Amino acid sequence: MNLLRPVLIALSQSARARQLVIHYGPMRKLARRFIAGETLDEAIAVVKELNRSGIQATLDHLGENVASEQDARRATEEYQHLAQRIAHEALQSSISVKPTHVGLDFGEDFCYSQLRAIVHTAQQFGLMVEVDMEGSAYTQATLNIVHQLLDHHCNLRVALQAYLYRTEEDLKHLITRGGSVRLCKGAYDEPSTIAWRSKKQVNASYARLMLMMLSEQALQNGFYPALATHDHHLILQAEREALRRNIAKDQFEFQMLYGVRRDWQRRLAMDGYRVRVYVPYGTQWYPYFMRRLAERPANVLFITRALIGG
Ligand SMILES: Cc1cc2nc3c(=O)[nH]c(=O)nc-3n(C[C@H](O)[C@H](O)[C@H](O)COP(=O)(O)OP(=O)(O)OC[C@H]3O[C@@H](n4cnc5c(N)ncnc54)[C@H](O)[C@@H]3O)c2cc1C
Repeated sequence: MNLLRPVLIALSQSARARQLVIHYGPMRKLARRFIAGETLDEAIAVVKELNRSGIQATLDHLGENVASEQDARRATEEYQHLAQRIAHEALQSSISVKPTHVGLDFGEDFCYSQLRAIVHTAQQFGLMVEVDMEGSAYTQATLNIVHQLLDHHCNLRVALQAYLYRTEEDLKHLITRGGSVRLCKGAYDEPSTIAWRSKKQVNASYARLMLMMLSEQALQNGFYPALATHDHHLILQAEREALRRNIAKDQFEFQMLYGVRRDWQRRLAMDGYRVRVYVPYGTQWYPYFMRRLAERPANVLFITRALIGG
């Protein structure tokens, strides 16, 4: 078990640690490994480069837990502008949104209205909206909103987290609706009452859910699986399953994060699989960056060395 994980995730919510990190030059430089840039233009340059290598993107304008409804409305407008820009630049990219960036802390109805506006604009440009899944306090509300949106729109995908016990039931429901799910392991620190905490159990849960997503019943329902992981054991298992069951390479996709396992991103794309890279940008990168550090103890070692060395 990664003992630093809960500490780093707790720090991702600390305003004091945030101030220290975001104003410290060397840390800002290191964050660039995972963040495409602070401006949309920088992110667009990254997406163009990915698209040239046959890789699609999903653009995330970083931000979460905004302080007011006004901030949430501003974020919604920024996402609408982003959709316009993706279409204008003819990019192969969807949009990823965190519900708390568009006001989930101000109620489900309020967040629904913001997300609906984004999904509606994206639909006009033929784009997909991906709803990120945040900490467990938001899971039910996020799914309520997604199901409500799915009643009227189909350009929508939601992330589910394999570490949560509830996910199997949530996934069954979305498979029955013929929706689309991005399956990830889960990036927050959840208690054992609701989530698996050991890597082995989370991996086993991921494998089980992944096979459900690739099942004949799911694909026949029009369900579209997006497998978001850098775990090569799981990626190879998915490839074997697709080969064994004659699942076409355009019936599902792999998703990875900007700055992580570029070798696998390229290899899969060259082998003809659909690959989508999550490209975050913006000034609000601190909590996202800390979650990335938490995922891999070696990242902290790498930073410590870089800071001591530099
Ligand atoms: C496209 C995408 C979208 C996501 N969306 C969400 C979401 O909405 N909600 C949510 O809770 N989580 C999300 N996540 C994060 C996810 O839940 C995991 O925390 C993260 O992907 C690490 O899990 P893993 O599957 O890569 O497996 P792991 O077992 O953690 O990692 C496997 C290997 O990948 C490499 N690796 C993984 N992470 C890193 C890293 N940070 N730095 C360097 N190397 C790394 C290492 O080589 C590692 O050995 C998303 C992940 C991806 C890829």
